[in-house]
Amino acid sequence: MWNPFRHEYVRVVYSADYIYGLPSVGEHQTFDIMRFKKIRDRLVKEKLLTRKNILQPDLCSYDDLRLVHTEEYLKKLQDPQYVNRVLRLDAVNLFYNSILEYFRAVTGGTLLATAFALRRNIPTFNLGGGYHHAHADKAEGFCLINDVAVAIEKFRALGRAHRFMIIDLDYHQGNGNLLYFKDDADVFTFSIHADAWVEIDRPQNRDILVPSNCDDETYLTVLAQELPPVFNEFQPEAVFYIAGSDPYEKDAIGDMRISRQGMLERNLFVYRMVREKEIPLIVLAGGGYGKDSWEVYYDFIAYCLKNKK
Ligand SMILES: [Zn+2]
Repeated sequence: MWNPFRHEYVRVVYSADYIYGLPSVGEHQTFDIMRFKKIRDRLVKEKLLTRKNILQPDLCSYDDLRLVHTEEYLKKLQDPQYVNRVLRLDAVNLFYNSILEYFRAVTGGTLLATAFALRRNIPTFNLGGGYHHAHADKAEGFCLINDVAVAIEKFRALGRAHRFMIIDLDYHQGNGNLLYFKDDADVFTFSIHADAWVEIDRPQNRDILVPSNCDDETYLTVLAQELPPVFNEFQPEAVFYIAGSDPYEKDAIGDMRISRQGMLERNLFVYRMVREKEIPLIVLAGGGYGKDSWEVYYDFIAYCLKNKK
């Protein structure tokens, strides 16, 4: 049987700036700001990841952010008080815009992962990213910067690729991406979610609503039925997979009942689907809340690293 892992040695993008994130206070106590560091540390401890396989991004430049976001919005983001207000945070540091830096770091990570995946055709995981609610001119749902949109615009501008697919299996609908690309026939958006924010009818979109309490069988059956036909309609040059962990049964926000094994099966189904077609794959963490959320993304990356030959 064909084994998509046989010749692959996946890469991981991470930097120390990823631990800033959002403070675990007030309404946002469900955020585990150490989530991505925990994954990295465990992968290193298990000797699955070496220094060579960790790619370190720079902060995303303002020129790159301007490819998607409006000048006025970017100007507002310079003000830490504005950032704290739109994210409804209790803590505010007037002198240091660590939250904006976090989003710039992770967006830099998505750009680096995309560059690597396109150049080498090796699946690349960003330990963060997938801020799918952010709009060109405003923040929404804890997302300041739309990293996938920035990456798509950047690599189009560089003439590296033009047609992209976004597979979004976060608990929540990727409304920011859906609206941003609504008139773009070269970006296909596929999403399974329990919570829809907008409704847009277009041929390059598949929006699938599942019951909020659904179990492994229901969820994995829907995925197996709905995802494969999409590749007959649309042939992307690269796929962004937003592998949100919030459908996990232990998630602090999502109320689906997907087991840890079910989450791994979901992630491997998407991985195999894309890689058996040898399409460059960029994987982003997406949402995931509470102290156990990190396990899901860890399992996915660990499986890919363990099964390489
Ligand atoms: Zn989510």
